Amino acid sequence: MNGKKTNAQPPEEFTGIRKTKPANYAAGGKAIKSSIDHIRDEMTLGQGIGLLKQMNQKKGFDCPGCAWPDPDEKRAFLAEYCENGVKAIAEEATMKRVGPEFFKQHSVADLASKSDYWIGKSGRLTHPLILREDSSHYEEIKWSDAFQLIAEQLNSLESPNEAVFYTSGRTSNEAAFLYQLFVRQFGTNNLPDCSNMCHESSGAALSETLGIGKGSVTLQDFDKADLVIVIGQNPGTNHPRMLSALKETKKNGGKIISINPLPEAGLMRFKDPQSPLELIGSGTELADLHLPVTINGDVALLKATLLIMLAEEEKNGGVFDHRFIQEKTAGYEGFVTDLKTNDFDQCVLESGVEESLVRQAAQIIMNNDKIIICWAMGLTQHRNGVQNIREVVNLLLLKGSIGKPGAGTCPVRGHSNVQGDRTMGIWEKPKESFLQKLDEVFSFSAPRDHGYDVVDAIKAMHGGKAKVFFALGGNFLSASPDTEFCGEALRNCDLTVHVSTKPNRSHLIHGKTALILPCLGRSEKDVQKTGEQFLSVENSMGVVHSTQGNLKPASTLLLSEPDIVASLAKATLGAKSSVDWDKMIENYDNIRDVIEKVVPGFEFYNQKVREPQGFYLPNNARAANFEPTKTGKANFTINPVPFHNLNAGQYKMMTIRTHDQYNTTVYGLHDRYRGIYNERRVVLMNSEDMKSENLVENQKVNLIGRFEGEIRRADNFLVVSYPIPRRCTATYFPETNVLVPINSVAEISNTPTSKLVVISIEKR
Ligand code: SF4
Repeated sequence: MNGKKTNAQPPEEFTGIRKTKPANYAAGGKAIKSSIDHIRDEMTLGQGIGLLKQMNQKKGFDCPGCAWPDPDEKRAFLAEYCENGVKAIAEEATMKRVGPEFFKQHSVADLASKSDYWIGKSGRLTHPLILREDSSHYEEIKWSDAFQLIAEQLNSLESPNEAVFYTSGRTSNEAAFLYQLFVRQFGTNNLPDCSNMCHESSGAALSETLGIGKGSVTLQDFDKADLVIVIGQNPGTNHPRMLSALKETKKNGGKIISINPLPEAGLMRFKDPQSPLELIGSGTELADLHLPVTINGDVALLKATLLIMLAEEEKNGGVFDHRFIQEKTAGYEGFVTDLKTNDFDQCVLESGVEESLVRQAAQIIMNNDKIIICWAMGLTQHRNGVQNIREVVNLLLLKGSIGKPGAGTCPVRGHSNVQGDRTMGIWEKPKESFLQKLDEVFSFSAPRDHGYDVVDAIKAMHGGKAKVFFALGGNFLSASPDTEFCGEALRNCDLTVHVSTKPNRSHLIHGKTALILPCLGRSEKDVQKTGEQFLSVENSMGVVHSTQGNLKPASTLLLSEPDIVASLAKATLGAKSSVDWDKMIENYDNIRDVIEKVVPGFEFYNQKVREPQGFYLPNNARAANFEPTKTGKANFTINPVPFHNLNAGQYKMMTIRTHDQYNTTVYGLHDRYRGIYNERRVVLMNSEDMKSENLVENQKVNLIGRFEGEIRRADNFLVVSYPIPRRCTATYFPETNVLVPINSVAEISNTPTSKLVVISIEKR
């Protein structure tokens, strides 16, 4: 990279910052007001209330936001959702429409000059659209022509491996299963997904240590936990209903420790909008202890904690669960030997946390046996992301805190069906057992070579090795690291195709020819030959359940995602395919029937998914059975403390989300909990660091990243003083994705290191 701009990034204009003190509680009356405001922006209040009554209800549709689970039994009659769920569904069910007229008025270059917020607010797509080679505007295309064009392009490739098929985490189980089946019948495993950019590190670490790449806890475990540790996660914004679960932990006498560089409002106090008393009162205090760890100081902090625990165990005993360790684990002696080689003071120093706080945390952990540890991108998106999670597992294993009620692992997933898509086979590295089943059920030979994950797909497109990019949902460009590099990669393609509900920046940074295929949203009625259909999804805790919308679709031209996939498969594979694609779409029960034959845990799928609360998938770790690991036991691992040597003027930067966004979707320009309004181009800095750099509040700066001899720039940001550890900074995603180098990835998982980029700050 040379710092050259190619307009893949949002515009660099400021929008008029306003600031208040950061909030000291989450939700409450302000959340209700914000929800109403967002509904009113997109529809009438009556329409909004009608819609929300169905969200997350047993016979309704699943929130298109995060993957936090719904209660199995009792659900709130009116409000089984959070503020950000309201924003997500208001965006999807908006009454605004974007048809061919809109694209006649706005050229692609014009749209690219707008902010992501403006683009996202334009409305729902109504027609399939094509951007022809050398044309400046998208225009309408018939569905049949669109499928034909894609099929011809795919079939003209020298190898199926020259095509990349991306999936975002909103895609239903049924669409995802058909998609991977089509892609594998086409002949490639190039199935990157958004997991590659978020919880891939969790999957890698948990599979190795516990034999399953998913978390082990259920929602009910939060009621029973003695202690919940929330590390590298901001549930108040990214998984807000988790606060209700944490409230239950507290109500039942449990404790909460928060470990995060930022003191997030959502972990301090929660005013439950469903409780009138809490709305007028002070709410529930959540974190008993907050440890302001430095960016990527987590392993150091955990090691320091483990050293205190080990010392106490050796002195007085009673800290570790030796029966569990002996019966269920492997590698304990090696782990302890290695732990002792770490210097306690050095670990405390590297963690950035005061020793007294580390000791308090260790004491709480030692005093409790039913421990849940929750985490998200703050742990996974580091060079040592896999090691971070392995160290979390070490702590749980010492305490015997896996496979019993009130205890276990809880990687909190982002997009609403990201876990289900992986279960359905959306993976560039499929297991042999899965491929064998596909072969058997569909009488073909699925490709065995591993495909591209996200980072490798971007590099392949950039290098001309991949020429067609197809995205089933998502906003690939904005979600990906190294924005300019990714933009160049997409432009290098002969064809880019996006299945979408709304316009986004990925439609504007395109291949020689580009298509937008508009699809139904979660809240909309899906009618096929045999009548209305429902779909299914899997939440963060392995519960598979149905989702069915009943709104009139935004346009009569929209197709469902399964229909789009099946139509594309028919056009591309023709008589070569062994699948009766029409039959699959006539009735989605037919898709579920074949899923049942291929994917373990889906026996009697059609029957079980019709149960109002859905069904739990098998989870060996939940049952304290670790047979699937290489040793047949839960594995202790050795994870070195990462050291960071920053030169003068260098800072660690992590990307974060505002309270008004979900992943790449920008609902508004505010970050209410952090007290930052109407501005996204900010860099949060410690006030002492500002002094030493001679920076003042609202100072205009450029952010410069230097990595392996390359320079990356993100220009025009405002400095905001914030309680963040020294030498740490935070900026909003996706504005600073441009600074995340494509080659800076986690070992093993290849996840971009969006939570640690070294930058310097230049005054403008
Ligand atoms: S917690 Fe997540 S799934 Fe639940 S309503 Fe909020 S955004 Fe939707």
